[in-house]
Amino acid sequence: RQAHYATMRDVEPITRDGQRITVMINAGLRDDMPMLPLTGADGIGLFRTEFQFLVSATMPQRERQTRLYRDVLEAAGDRPVVFRTVDIGGDKVLPYLRHNEGETEENPAMGWRALRVALERDGLLKVQARSLIEAAAGRTLNVMFPMVTEPWEFDAAKAVFESQVAFLRKQKKVLPEAIRYGAMLEVPALAECLDILAPRLSFLSIGTNDLTQFLFAADRAHPKLAERYDWLSPAILRFLARVVRDVAPHGTALTVCGEMGGRRLEALALLGLGITRLSITPAAVGPIKELIGQVDLGEIRRAMEGWLREPQADMRRVVSQWASAHGI
Ligand code: PEP
Ligand code: MG
Repeated sequence: RQAHYATMRDVEPITRDGQRITVMINAGLRDDMPMLPLTGADGIGLFRTEFQFLVSATMPQRERQTRLYRDVLEAAGDRPVVFRTVDIGGDKVLPYLRHNEGETEENPAMGWRALRVALERDGLLKVQARSLIEAAAGRTLNVMFPMVTEPWEFDAAKAVFESQVAFLRKQKKVLPEAIRYGAMLEVPALAECLDILAPRLSFLSIGTNDLTQFLFAADRAHPKLAERYDWLSPAILRFLARVVRDVAPHGTALTVCGEMGGRRLEALALLGLGITRLSITPAAVGPIKELIGQVDLGEIRRAMEGWLREPQADMRRVVSQWASAHGI
């Protein structure tokens, strides 16, 4: 396995026409950190902080959170890490976090989860903010909020961090050199408000796992539905094209951090849509770097323009045939 990673480790993800693509990994535990040097990835584009909560028997206290975040940043060295604040609730139930008493949810994915929990249980986000800020003393802290549905949820979450910064400044603590705030685009409604949201962000990351389930109204964990709708369907491609177009004038860094980016044909389509930053599962880094080296960005972008204008029912076959015809 180590040998498998090593073959592509030092290969730079550069397209045939010379475009450097950013390839980062998704992680969530201390044990994931060796994957960074093993894959040669550019950083951690998504650190799922809820993993620590999910593997704990009790709520992780501030010291434990700080220690984890500090270890992660130290292991990453100069490579950036994007910490996503907890995405718990819904189906990721924590026995020690009391749900609204007696309430069961019929649609947990659309329920009381992620930022919705964090903003209501203010203490949760406050403790996490304090831990992240302290762990990133003297460095850049990248924070990302999950399931942002309306722009002001981003504002409210950011305000929790800023009040912790003010508090720690008063205590004369060493603060991060910079804090970059970003949002995940997972809820389609947010795409309607990118003109409002984008200017406030340092970066936006598209979570295609949740986005797909909400766009298609199809439970991502349902065995009959998980494969039914395709990431290469016109609805997804057009949706993403529109996000790229709407974000572009603001110059906000745009990443895809869902599983879609880790598959070859899907990654090819993303490149065609103008996405140049991917955060993917570590095992996919080698294959995706290889793919990037085979692609001419100009060619795939022109092909994608045609497909967006006149999509076919089976876009997977179309993209796959195009790939074969171009030696991919
Ligand atoms: C996503 O929804 O695409 C995502 C990256 O977040 P998660 O898979 O953790 O929900
Ligand atoms: Mg998600």
